[in-house]
Order: sequence, then structure tokens, then C-alpha cells
Amino acid sequence: MVIVMKQEASPADIDHVVEVIERLGYRAHLIRGVERTVVAAVGDERGKARLESLRALAGVEGVVPILKPYKLVGRELKRERTEIDVDGVIIGGREIQVIAGPCSVESREQIIEIAEIVKRGGAKFLRGGAYKPRTSPYSFQGLEEKGLEMLAEARDRTGLKVVTEVMDGHNVERVAQYADIIQVGARNMQNFALLKTLGKLRKPVLLKRGMMSTVEEFLMSAEYILAEGNYKVILCERGIRTFETSTRSTLDLNAIPVIQKLSHLPVIVDPSHGTGRWDLVLPMAKASVAAGADGLMIEIHPHPEEAFSDGYQSLVPKRYFSLMTEIKPLVAAMGRTLG
Ligand code: PEP
Ligand code: MN
Repeated sequence: MVIVMKQEASPADIDHVVEVIERLGYRAHLIRGVERTVVAAVGDERGKARLESLRALAGVEGVVPILKPYKLVGRELKRERTEIDVDGVIIGGREIQVIAGPCSVESREQIIEIAEIVKRGGAKFLRGGAYKPRTSPYSFQGLEEKGLEMLAEARDRTGLKVVTEVMDGHNVERVAQYADIIQVGARNMQNFALLKTLGKLRKPVLLKRGMMSTVEEFLMSAEYILAEGNYKVILCERGIRTFETSTRSTLDLNAIPVIQKLSHLPVIVDPSHGTGRWDLVLPMAKASVAAGADGLMIEIHPHPEEAFSDGYQSLVPKRYFSLMTEIKPLVAAMGRTLG
């Protein structure tokens, strides 16, 4: 249910509504929008008092049910787009943000060299996996904590913000110490225990769409994180599995406007994993911007043929630089700026 507060509701009225919701056994989420302040009351309704009676409380304008299965991520609750502040850099605002870097952190020299390239190209975020979800247990699994330390050093040298993946609940605290944004990979999109743990943090989470998940399932996964109180979730379309074999995945660009209609959360696109081919990254990055994406995630590597993972889809530095130049007219056409 959404408890819509009157314009003139006092802070004490709002506090009281929150208190009553919690007393009845629901969880209250207070959302202060520009137009209106609302309180979402979520939780299993069985065996509990009904929330309609909250209409009688001081300062309450109305009590409206949320019809969609996801409650906190939906537009029914919050009409304005969510802007996520990552230490002063906004995702979901007017600026389109680019997250670039290697698939895997391979060595200190490699991540520092790439961080400098990322910075020179103008992106504000460095990506790099220290824990890698590989299809084969015999493939490179990542440098783990050493990789995290290398990312932190690259951040100290360049001022870039670090995006890196966490694969299991045991490592959340460790990864959170080093990352500015914690990535949940496609394969973990429905690891609900992990999502709940991340929901208890206050650090932004980049949630990648599962390769066999519908948009609704994707939004339900985001809901797990918000339901625990962490509202800083960035959604990432990274392609889905279809019958098509000419690309690694089928990048679902429909998902961008579909999600933006259903949800207030920012949506970015990863054309590297979405295509699996370096030669398709530029056209699909442009298409993503034109479709309204709030950002891009791009894999780059100075020596793709030697990369420990995903070399074939990685851009060499000069192609990353041209991507950053070539998307500019599209960014401007969308009424936005490049972060
Ligand atoms: C990655 O970003 O390197 C990655 C493993 O992506 P995904 O989870 O989308 O496959
Ligand atoms: Mn990769």
C-alpha cells in the first residue's frame, strides 16, 4: 500500500504513520519526492490488520494499493526517476555515465595502465572483476582480495570510482570495503540470499539482468535489495539468451524503455557482454544511448588477445577513445551530457 501524505502534513504526522505501519507488522519505507511524500507499507498481509484504516490518521491524503508485484522499485510508488549519488557522481541524472575497464583484474600493472586509459577517455568509473563467475571451473577465477587491493590502488591514482563484482554472501563485507559500486552478475541475479545481504548495506548495487530472466523477474530481484532498505540500485541490461547464435547474447534494447516505464531506477547497458563481439560494441553503445540508457558498461583491454577473460569483446584503447567521441552527438541529441 502507498500512504500518500498531504502537502501540509507535519513531520510528526509522517513519523506517526511510519510508527503505526510498523506496529501493525509491516515495513515502512518513507519516500520524499518533489511532488509528494509517500510512505510505502510492505509485507505479507495475512493475519494482519488492514492498512486502509490509515486513511483516518492526521496528514494522510489517501491509501492506495500497489498493483504490481514489485512495490518499491515501481513507478506507482515513486514517479520521479531515482538519481544515485556515488560519492558526488550521479547515475540516473542528466549525465550519462560510462563504466569501463577489463573483464578481469589481471595484475597491478594491467589495472593501473587500464585505469589511466579509462580516465583519459573521460569515463568516471573503472570496472574490473576480482571474483569471476566463469562457466568452467578450470578457467581463471580472479585474483580475489589481491585484485580488490589493486583496484583500490588504481582508484587512488586516478580518482575513478570502482565497480566490482561480488559472487557470494561471505565476501560482501570485503568487496564493500573496496568498491564504490558492488556488481551482482547475471548468474547471481536470483541469488536472493545475496540480494538480501546487499540490501542491508547502504552502498550502491549494480544489478545485472539474468540471461534467462524476464523484465519482471529482474525488477523483483531489485525489489529484494530495496525491501531491506538499500534504495541505491542501478539496473544493467546485458543481453539475454535466445536462439540467435551470431552474437553471444541478444541485447534487449526494448528493456530500456520498458523498465523506465515500470521503474524509477536508473538503467545502464553493457553492450560488451550483450554482443560478445568487440566490433558490435560501438553500434550497440550508440543504440543504447539513443534508447534512453543512463549509462554504459564497456570492457576494454590493451592486448585483448592476451586477456584472461572476454578478450574477444574488449575494445582496444583507441577504439574506446573513439567510442567516447562518437557517442557524444547521440548523448547531446538525447538532451544529456557525457559524465
Ligand atoms: C562481467 O561483467 O564481467 C560479467 C561476468 O558479466 P555478466 O554477469 O553480465 O555475465
Ligand atoms: Mn566479462
